[in-house]
Amino acid sequence: MRPTQTRRIHRLALNFLIAFLFCASFAVATAVRAQSKFAPASSALTAPQKRAGRTGSRAAQPARNPQILKLVTEIDARNIERTIRKLVSFGTRNTLSDQNDPNRGIGAAREWLYAEFLQVAVSSGGRMTVEKQTFEQPKAARVPQPTILTNIVATLKGTQPESANRVYVVSGHYDSMCSSPTDAKCDAPGANDDASGTAAVLEMARVMAKYKFDATIVFMTVPGEEQGLFGATHFAEEAKKSNMDIEAMFTNDIIGSSVGGNGVHDPHTVRVFSEGVPSNETQQEATTRRSVGGENDSTSRQLARFIKEVGERYVPSMKVWMIYRRDRYGRGGDHQPFLERGYAAVRFTEPNENYQHQHQNVRVQNGIQYGDLPQFDDFNYIADVARMNAAALAGLALAPARPKNVTFPSGLSNDTPIKWDGNKEPDLAGYEIVWRDTTEATWTHSQSVGNVQTFTMKGMSKDNFFFGVRALNREGNRSPVTYPRQAPRAPRTDQAAQPSP
Ligand SMILES: [Zn+2]
Repeated sequence: MRPTQTRRIHRLALNFLIAFLFCASFAVATAVRAQSKFAPASSALTAPQKRAGRTGSRAAQPARNPQILKLVTEIDARNIERTIRKLVSFGTRNTLSDQNDPNRGIGAAREWLYAEFLQVAVSSGGRMTVEKQTFEQPKAARVPQPTILTNIVATLKGTQPESANRVYVVSGHYDSMCSSPTDAKCDAPGANDDASGTAAVLEMARVMAKYKFDATIVFMTVPGEEQGLFGATHFAEEAKKSNMDIEAMFTNDIIGSSVGGNGVHDPHTVRVFSEGVPSNETQQEATTRRSVGGENDSTSRQLARFIKEVGERYVPSMKVWMIYRRDRYGRGGDHQPFLERGYAAVRFTEPNENYQHQHQNVRVQNGIQYGDLPQFDDFNYIADVARMNAAALAGLALAPARPKNVTFPSGLSNDTPIKWDGNKEPDLAGYEIVWRDTTEATWTHSQSVGNVQTFTMKGMSKDNFFFGVRALNREGNRSPVTYPRQAPRAPRTDQAAQPSP
């Protein structure tokens, strides 16, 4: 062999080697990408975890619904600003303030809001009705004498007969306070607490009244929040008495500012507070929960997860910061009376609060401006929070009801059968099983199982994962997840637990 020939052969071999290494590294990279798409985040996977990762899809993004996309863009910050400035112009909206003065006090605010909702209802073609729900609140710690309170309730009736009795409530409180909750004379502009929530609700009603939804949506503004959550309590109590099927309630309270007292400017985050252990949990349910967990899987927490998923899908510039507690320390809100009566409910609030602008007499002290003034509101931020609300509400009201009576049939097995009642909507497409590792904060996997009422997760024990079921319709709208409730029974001991004499 001539030296040039040898060199050519060496060069050829080298090229082959380079080409082989290139292909091999590409194949490895592809395999790694494929693995990370399906496998749970944990690096050391057990066999069932690996199986779990491969049979379901991880975080697949469903297509966006054109109706929801459109209504979200119609929410207008200018309307929100106009509402807030108008509410502030009534001087005070303290629940104990004047009921009849046309220009100042809670009565003036009530009449203005009622007229606005009536105006908004015109575009609904008769599907939205507006009601004053008036009652007398007896004396209480912050109510020195019996006082008339009036909730303004705008109901947008669902158009699918099988879903019209299913109700979603979105609320803000229109009362306000200065430093003293019983001072009815001082100026209490309440531009953030809670003209912001009230304005968001009115703007959602204006935009959504034109659209049709399968289920019913209630747009509500209430007084008496600062006095002890009295407006919301009255509505929730009446709903309970009449067996109203409230599937979810949102309160928007202090959603006005993107700048906190800590100086942090964050116009892209809204906190959603959800309780873990249900406020109305029974003794039996508590016993089961202590045995097998579930303190992170109340209906309110499933609702918060739904809001995060849907809200962020339609308003990509915004993030839901889920807070796994009912409310902030030492504070409360209008979702509480709903929780206490067994309804799923969450609270929307700005990410960083400024306490110089809440429940303070308007004044300048040591060069600092105190008081809840419109100049501290960020109207574009409020509009974004309203968009998150509207996307989630529309997602709920267009989707089937969440599955009911989801249970694990009794028996010990390394497979997990799950059963539930069939939904009654005519456009139902079927169900999805979702699951996650017990240490995960949100659902990580889902699997479509068709239109069935029972399904067995092979090779996955309910002891090792959390499971849930959700319904979806032919348009692709998904319900929130229902977490299985195990029928309570006497705790079982292992066979060997019998003490020897
Ligand atoms: Zn408030």
